[in-house]
Amino acid sequence: MALLSRINCVIRAGTGVTLKIFRMESNQILSRTVSDLQNTKRPKVLVTFPHIPEIGIELLKNKCDLIIWDKPVAIPREELMKKIVGVDGVYCLLTDKIDNEILEVAGPQLKVVGTMSVGYNHLDLKALKARNIHVGYTPGILTNATAELTIALVLATSRRLFEANAAMLRGEWTAWSPTWMCGPGLKGSTVGIVGLGRIGIKVAECLASFDVKKIIYTSRTEKKEAAAFCGQKVTFNELLHQSDFIVVTTALTPETTNLFNEEAFAKMKKTSVFINTSRGEVVDQDALIQALKNKTIWAAGLDVMVPEPIPLDSELLKLSNCVILPHLGSANIETRTKMAKMTAENILAVLRGAPEEMPSPLNIE
Ligand code: NAP
Repeated sequence: MALLSRINCVIRAGTGVTLKIFRMESNQILSRTVSDLQNTKRPKVLVTFPHIPEIGIELLKNKCDLIIWDKPVAIPREELMKKIVGVDGVYCLLTDKIDNEILEVAGPQLKVVGTMSVGYNHLDLKALKARNIHVGYTPGILTNATAELTIALVLATSRRLFEANAAMLRGEWTAWSPTWMCGPGLKGSTVGIVGLGRIGIKVAECLASFDVKKIIYTSRTEKKEAAAFCGQKVTFNELLHQSDFIVVTTALTPETTNLFNEEAFAKMKKTSVFINTSRGEVVDQDALIQALKNKTIWAAGLDVMVPEPIPLDSELLKLSNCVILPHLGSANIETRTKMAKMTAENILAVLRGAPEEMPSPLNIE
């Protein structure tokens, strides 16, 4: 023991790693050696937000060393640039722009980016593919939650829930009035869905149950699922002209950026309700503000906008015919838990050398 207690040793690990351990007790030698060996193998993962549902962090922590951005604001770009250097994986959010410059700084060891979102417009897919970096995302598991929120926004906007509640709190509810706080109903209306993907289909299915007259949609491709609600594919112009409610659930792409501009709002019915739960950039926001102020359209309900968070002095917040929510689409507890788990599992599959086991890889063409 005495001999062992003051030992200088060199252990040559199977991995080719050489560990030097000086002057330690024998049991310490053993534990330090094992943990050091494990640590040398543990990949490093950057998590870009402090408040991730526990399961995601637990799964990652078991296998990786984590660097976690510690403030509850989107990680500033300069911090991302510093913290991403040398990591093997990144757990990111839709607020983190991962582009060529970031990847260049990160280094060639970076193997996987897992985004806790279905939208991936914040990722430079070309740059990721060029570096053979795997990308994971979370489609499907947030469809229902986002559709629920979209329906809530349709109803809150058309039936003026926030406006009425605020008026009541100001003491303006003087009597049950036949004309006060009325809004357009869904029954018998034409609903136009822009981007009939997973979320758009679920929204259409739900809205059909309100006895709407017709559901029309635009998408790049015809959707067989639309048969269930007699959905009809139309041109964008037709959708603008015919719809009483327009619900935007498209992906953000170069083609859909600023799709809703002054010209588009001018083609919509004056009585129309505009709902956006996709991405803020699909809308030219100044044009929307003008359309709401001039009553070119009747009202808007937005879960997404530019920028996020919206500055408190934004004109949008002053308009009584605009309902704004702080990007809550997928914010139900079960969904966010599943999203965190899937994101962690996407990352771990790649880091253990089995990208084919990623639960949800983003296949980059
Ligand atoms: P998805 O299934 O991929 O649906 C996206 C749809 O956009 C597809 O149907 C696609 O049409 C359509 N599209 C793409 N380019 C178009 C264009 N130029 N014109 C018309 N439609 C176009 O995705 P998802 O799961 O439904 O999610 C949709 C989007 O919702 C996400 O990308 C994300 O930005 C947003 N989102 C927001 C929240 C929130 O919190 N508010 C939550 C989740 C998702 P094709 O199928 O024909 O290609």
